[in-house]
Amino acid sequence: MRPISRAVLRPYVCPTCRHGISAGRRRFGSKSDSPDLYDVVCVGGGPAGLGLLAALRASPITSKLKVALIESQDLRKAKAWDLEPNQFSNRVSSLTPSTVSFLRSIGAYDHLDVNRVQDYQDMQVWDGQTGSRISFDWSMETSPFEDMRTVATMTENANLVRALLRRIADLGDENLSLFSNATVASIENGSDLKPEGPDLSAWPVLTVKPTGPAAETETPKRIAARLLVGADGINSPVRSFADIPTQGWDYGRHGVVATLALDEPATPPFPASKRTAYQRFLPALGGPIALLPLPDNHATLVWSTTPENAAYLKSLPTPAFLAMVNAAFRLDMTDLTYMMGMQSSSSDSTSHQDELTWRAQHTPLPSQIPPAATAVQAGTVASFPLRFRHAAQYISPRIALVGDAAHVIHPLAGQGLNLGLADVASLSKTIQYAVSHGMDIGDLLTLERYSSERYLPNAKIGGACDLLHKMYNVPGEGPVALARSLGLGVVDRLPFVKSFLMKNAEGY
Ligand SMILES: Cc1cc2nc3c(=O)[nH]c(=O)nc-3n(C[C@H](O)[C@H](O)[C@H](O)COP(=O)(O)OP(=O)(O)OC[C@H]3O[C@@H](n4cnc5c(N)ncnc54)[C@H](O)[C@@H]3O)c2cc1C
Repeated sequence: MRPISRAVLRPYVCPTCRHGISAGRRRFGSKSDSPDLYDVVCVGGGPAGLGLLAALRASPITSKLKVALIESQDLRKAKAWDLEPNQFSNRVSSLTPSTVSFLRSIGAYDHLDVNRVQDYQDMQVWDGQTGSRISFDWSMETSPFEDMRTVATMTENANLVRALLRRIADLGDENLSLFSNATVASIENGSDLKPEGPDLSAWPVLTVKPTGPAAETETPKRIAARLLVGADGINSPVRSFADIPTQGWDYGRHGVVATLALDEPATPPFPASKRTAYQRFLPALGGPIALLPLPDNHATLVWSTTPENAAYLKSLPTPAFLAMVNAAFRLDMTDLTYMMGMQSSSSDSTSHQDELTWRAQHTPLPSQIPPAATAVQAGTVASFPLRFRHAAQYISPRIALVGDAAHVIHPLAGQGLNLGLADVASLSKTIQYAVSHGMDIGDLLTLERYSSERYLPNAKIGGACDLLHKMYNVPGEGPVALARSLGLGVVDRLPFVKSFLMKNAEGY
């Protein structure tokens, strides 16, 4: 834990008495070196940081707190983000119903462009090695008189960030400072040198430096935080300042993402509005491939695989890339492994498709497969390294971590951002509780409430995703494959267990 010079929990003593000076005496030193004081300073303007800001501003209990957000990217650009209606960003997340209801409760969901989001009600998950399958179909759980229940809602991260920024703007700028295009140059403990001011010796004091060429002449600004929130992602500077270690590892896997256009489904869905997400585990290739629906027969691809396979897929010309995606949902492991090693050049763009056509004739197709991918949106094929991290603790005096700063998990269950927004919901409630009960919002006792609510659920879900990743990375027909196939097969036949899993997928 970071060194704090004075006991943080000592009883409050007013500054005048603390410094043993008479009430009438004042010092007229330069003010320039004293930091501006804020109640909450949030580093990081990703979904978690902006979610926290919107939640605090939306609540009548916390809306008057003096808050600041520091983000190294350009928030004006994020607020003006726009794409053609039939174009979709490749950074897409599935929001669970509980995340959606949190976004509704803070008034942010209304600012999402709903023409760009897609609910799905059915999920088909199967093991490419053993063929065992589990399907999560909410339409079976719903009576004919109610709307079909949603498993998750797909949205581009940029659409969500823009919605949160619009909601924050809606709520006015009183007591709000947004430091966009700015980075945290340093964080240190404050001091207790000002007789007339509060004792800042346990307060984090940040030096905020503008980024970008136009800003080079601007003077860095110093701000002190009653509560400093790290929503600053996997390499969190706030976590480093608090000296909080993380446990974890790199998976040695990359997530290949892309925006795809799909063919019309072979049989129209029933009911017509039902949409399906597909995920096939490919043990021989290092992880699952998932195709998640977007509006108008588009889909987002997340294919977790080895860095070598990821590099190979990214190097392919579009027709070969599409053939590989379609093969991954249709062919058996041996055929797929063969195709992943095929020579490819831009002048020979049909060989993968020819190979798929030929091999598919001799392969019994799984019962539920996604419609064929027919096009890749230009510039959307990319890959991200997959990692697991969990901070040893989420809080320290006057500090709280949320989102990826606190935990990074394997994306196979699409839960990372959902966990981050659940942190934010919990922390904002903790702050509201402290304000309404006259407590210090940065005090460890206050923050304990947040930490105890979030640490275990996050560890449980992160651990479950890790276990799934490991189980589905054992190729061949051995005992692990048998256990996998029994597991999926049995769960699929036990309605109560399945219903329990479906509720968990919903985020309740
Ligand atoms: C391939 C892939 C697919 C995924 N799919 C899903 C999914 O379907 N569902 C889901 O729930 N999750 C998914 N996730 C996870 C999800 O994307 C992340 O959990 C989420 O984006 C994290 O949000 P965050 O706000 O915590 O962090 P980030 O989005 O990393 O934001 C951190 C912010 O802090 C800023 N920052 C960092 N350092 C500083 C500094 N020094 N000064 C100022 N600002 C700073 C950064 O610029 C950034 O804007 C996926 C992840 C991957 C890799």
